[in-house]
Amino acid sequence: MYEEEYEHRLMDAQYSAGDDADVEISLRPKELDEYIGQEKAKENLSIYIEAAKNRGEPLDHVLLYGPPGLGKTTLASIIANEMGVNFRVTSGPAIEKPGDLAALLTNLDDGDVLFIDEIHRLSRSIEEVLYPAMEDNVIDIIIGKGPSARSIRLDLRRFTLVGATTRAGQLSAPLRDRFGVILRLEMYTPEELQRIVTRSAGILGVAVDEEGAAEIASRSRGTPRIANRLLKRARDFAQVMFDGVITREAAAMALERMEIDSLGLDNIDRRILTAMIKNYNGGPVGLETIAAVVGEEAVTIEDVYEPYLMQLGFLSRTPRGRIVTAAGYAHLGLTMPGQQKFDV
Ligand code: ADP
Repeated sequence: MYEEEYEHRLMDAQYSAGDDADVEISLRPKELDEYIGQEKAKENLSIYIEAAKNRGEPLDHVLLYGPPGLGKTTLASIIANEMGVNFRVTSGPAIEKPGDLAALLTNLDDGDVLFIDEIHRLSRSIEEVLYPAMEDNVIDIIIGKGPSARSIRLDLRRFTLVGATTRAGQLSAPLRDRFGVILRLEMYTPEELQRIVTRSAGILGVAVDEEGAAEIASRSRGTPRIANRLLKRARDFAQVMFDGVITREAAAMALERMEIDSLGLDNIDRRILTAMIKNYNGGPVGLETIAAVVGEEAVTIEDVYEPYLMQLGFLSRTPRGRIVTAAGYAHLGLTMPGQQKFDV
């Protein structure tokens, strides 16, 4: 069904297609000063960048981690821009053979930034090519097969590897240890998201008033990518039904039509909570069970849905599984079993 597919894509981390892809590029901040929020990461990064530039060296390898859509790719491109070097992009699943990685590395110019998205998905044999490259700027490649095979060592130009992953814990320890800078991106506050919405509206040439921007911001689950996407849909409603200005009313109507509630929860979030309550008395329930009941991949639930539900305090993790909290019940208009007795 169209609605369902749309909903799904709205949350999909990797989704970017058609005209959206071009807009997404133009909405990306290019300099550290334009990058809103993430003050702690930004402050540290600006010092590392300045120091590396003063020494005339590339920046140390950087690992960025946090849920999808928080600005990891954007920050990586800003690093390249601020260092004045090329930005090369690839991803863990795209590198299939050690030779693919060798080709990428040998084609870098001095100081370039190589960005590997979903770096936790690199295979073991490819990780092993990366270790000497990260440490000593060399790679060992095997030439030939069987008894005549021999290994030759190639010198690489100096480079900065920026890796991105949704959870740092997914990375193997030897790989993680080779990053000199590890930065965790946090969910954005509604105020920060409001600034992002206002900035994006300016770039898209759409009028949004303060309340309209605040409405979108508060329902964007702490995530700039979602804020930008909701802004574009609100723009459609504003154009057709509200004289082109995104007011609170226009934004609210767009969000309601997309079945996104006052806190930014969508159908799938609600299905997760409801399934846990109806079928398992609110938990504890294992991740795989939730995934099966809701019909989503376990990793999607863990990376995309759960962080926000936990941030809201609607879901918590226990050693025996996930549980819905009293606040989660309350949001769905339900009372937690035992809660009433407790209150009386
Ligand atoms: P990730 O790589 O973490 O999935 P992206 O870097 O692709 O996320 O960011 C998604 C979109 O959100 C970008 O296109 C960008 O326009 C916007 N964005 C992300 N972080 C910020 C920020 N700090 N300030 C303004 N816009 C941002």
